[in-house]
Amino acid sequence: MKVYLDNAATTPMDPEVIEAMIPIMKENFGNPSSIHSFGRSSRAIIEKARKQVAGFINAAPGEIFFTGGGTEADNMVLRCSVEDLGVDHIITSATEHHAVIDTAEVIAGKKGIELSLVKHDAKGYVDIENLKQLLEANRDRKTLVSLMHANNEIGNRLPIKQVADLCKQYGAYFHSDTVQTMCHYRFDVRELGVDFITCSAHKFHGPKGVGFLFVNQNIQLKPMITGGAQERNVRAGTENIIGIVGLTKAMEVAYRDLEAHQEHVQGLKTYMIEQLEATIPGVTFNGDPKGDSLYTVLNVQFPNSEMDEMLLYNFDIEGVAVSGGSACSSGSNVGSHVLRNIGADMTKPSIRFSFSKFNTKAEIDYTIKVIKELFAVPA
Ligand code: PLP
Repeated sequence: MKVYLDNAATTPMDPEVIEAMIPIMKENFGNPSSIHSFGRSSRAIIEKARKQVAGFINAAPGEIFFTGGGTEADNMVLRCSVEDLGVDHIITSATEHHAVIDTAEVIAGKKGIELSLVKHDAKGYVDIENLKQLLEANRDRKTLVSLMHANNEIGNRLPIKQVADLCKQYGAYFHSDTVQTMCHYRFDVRELGVDFITCSAHKFHGPKGVGFLFVNQNIQLKPMITGGAQERNVRAGTENIIGIVGLTKAMEVAYRDLEAHQEHVQGLKTYMIEQLEATIPGVTFNGDPKGDSLYTVLNVQFPNSEMDEMLLYNFDIEGVAVSGGSACSSGSNVGSHVLRNIGADMTKPSIRFSFSKFNTKAEIDYTIKVIKELFAVPA
């Protein structure tokens, strides 16, 4: 049996999405910037897609900028905030995706922009009191707060509305990396009051290399990538029309059946937690999987055994695709920056299991059987 449980890394494409992309590949090759009918028909497809995408999150079409994925969108927020909005202080967290934390570090290093890292509590949640203190202490600076909606490794969620309100109170810009939560929850950007959110289509059964950045209409960015007037002068480069249509279809499919999929996937995660607790002595979880946790992610800390370094490989041999770090007691492997920064026990092997609507209970049963065999638990 082959089981794919690495859906936080990427998801298989939905057949409906593939079907929607095929005619675009065959028929709509015109450059959207061309003024002839071929170009105009491509332009019309992109603008229709933008309107649809905006509608799903209650944004205005002019607030949606298509990008080459989540990393690019995150980079745009951080780099353009400093370049165009006069931001001189960034508050983020050490457990952000590398697209944010590495970018923040590069910017801070190069331009002398100050970087503050918000603390986490014992369960790995962002410490909101500490965020408040950081905002209070930097009232006189132009601050960008960049905190992800849900952590891609451990699943902990941010109280996004509360943070948006706090940022408003202190006059700070607020970016939330919603790459892991877009199309897994319903969003209303007006109600949330966020300035920027970012999206990547391949995290919800769409194609890779396409995403978007939402920018509140009161904010005007200049291009990070120059060389053309595409995306209303904010993101140069011929638009990825095939990807944009795929992204839009993936959103449509996701939002159509969202609650049913949430229930199904949460059911798989809960079942897996119960099975692990019942069968594997010494198993624990990183983050707070029974708390305010993204339902697609389960980060499991296994007890030490002689195969610590080989655990990931052993799952692969048995046909179960997962991700995560091995134990790093050897010192050569620094392991996951997320686990390290929430104070997880780095001497034990941790594995991330991440689920999608395509997973089944039978696949979880198979995975549990594999785990029992690996840890020599009697059947
Ligand atoms: N942000 C988060 C939270 C992610 O999980 C990812 C993907 O791993 C990204 C950003 C990067 O997105 P992309 O793969 O589209 O560049």
